[in-house]
Amino acid sequence: MWAGRGYRCAMSRVTVLGSVNMDQFFEVAQLPKPGQTVLAGSNRSEPGGKGANQAVAAARAGADVRLVAAIGTDAHGDALRKHLQDNGVGVDGLMVLPMPSGTAAIMVSADAENMIVVAPGANAHLSLNSAVARAPITGCDVLLAQLEIPLPTVLAAARQARADGATVMVNASPDGADPDLLGELAAVADVVIVNQTEAAGWRWPVPHLVITRGAQGAIHRTDDGETHVAPPAVEAVDTTGAGDVFAGVLAAGWSEDPRHALRRAVTAGALATLVSGAGNCAPSAEAIRDAMDAVNRPH
Ligand code: ADP
Repeated sequence: MWAGRGYRCAMSRVTVLGSVNMDQFFEVAQLPKPGQTVLAGSNRSEPGGKGANQAVAAARAGADVRLVAAIGTDAHGDALRKHLQDNGVGVDGLMVLPMPSGTAAIMVSADAENMIVVAPGANAHLSLNSAVARAPITGCDVLLAQLEIPLPTVLAAARQARADGATVMVNASPDGADPDLLGELAAVADVVIVNQTEAAGWRWPVPHLVITRGAQGAIHRTDDGETHVAPPAVEAVDTTGAGDVFAGVLAAGWSEDPRHALRRAVTAGALATLVSGAGNCAPSAEAIRDAMDAVNRPH
């Protein structure tokens, strides 16, 4: 249920539809060659998946967030659910399927090369066939989806949200999705977010196209022209996850004021680069506000 239902509540209601994974990082001196075994200097697990990361970012930025996603019946599923709840994300739309949760094995070498294997697990079976999965889409202000789950599921959710009068926001990432289905999705999307690489393959007109450009910030393109928003200067430590934080924070503020939301998203993306990893790098609403105040303060 929406936390703000029945009260006067200024928080915008964001439903995120997407993936949840348990990412396992292995730090190795050199990446293994085929047939080779190498020892890792260290390893750690961290919750991830674009859906979870964007939901956490939107919740930390102050929105009332519910996530529609699928986990498995394994211990990873329990840890992922706890991570979402600890971050204030509503999990009533979290499906539990009789299979493993999504996982990713990420090997990073001393010279920062990486090798990644993703096992989508339950993410590959997320559908809107149950009322539990459909419920959070009803009554949201913004539906935010990405492309790490089956595209027909994204399309069904986008059509439902659109019919209910919500804003449909799609982070068209990762690239490589079926172009026919992407075209159908573009036809019901209000806002599409892509990074510079993904922008090269994006060819469908949408009311709002937002292109993120790393340290250059973001471009907001509409029929009326283009706006560029620059991020605050930061000493980036790890840019992984910045795009997910950007998308979550944009969704959190869009229904109140799109231009302000864009400035917040660009600032939050920059702050995310100060923290290593992707699952836990989203800043709080206060941290975003303080960083924006610092930029606006006369020197
Ligand atoms: P992705 O991670 O999807 O490739 P980007 O790298 O474009 O996305 O980053 C998303 C947002 O994060 C940018 O629009 C910007 O606001 C912020 N950002 C990313 N890298 C930097 C950086 N080096 N310095 C400042 N801000 C950054």
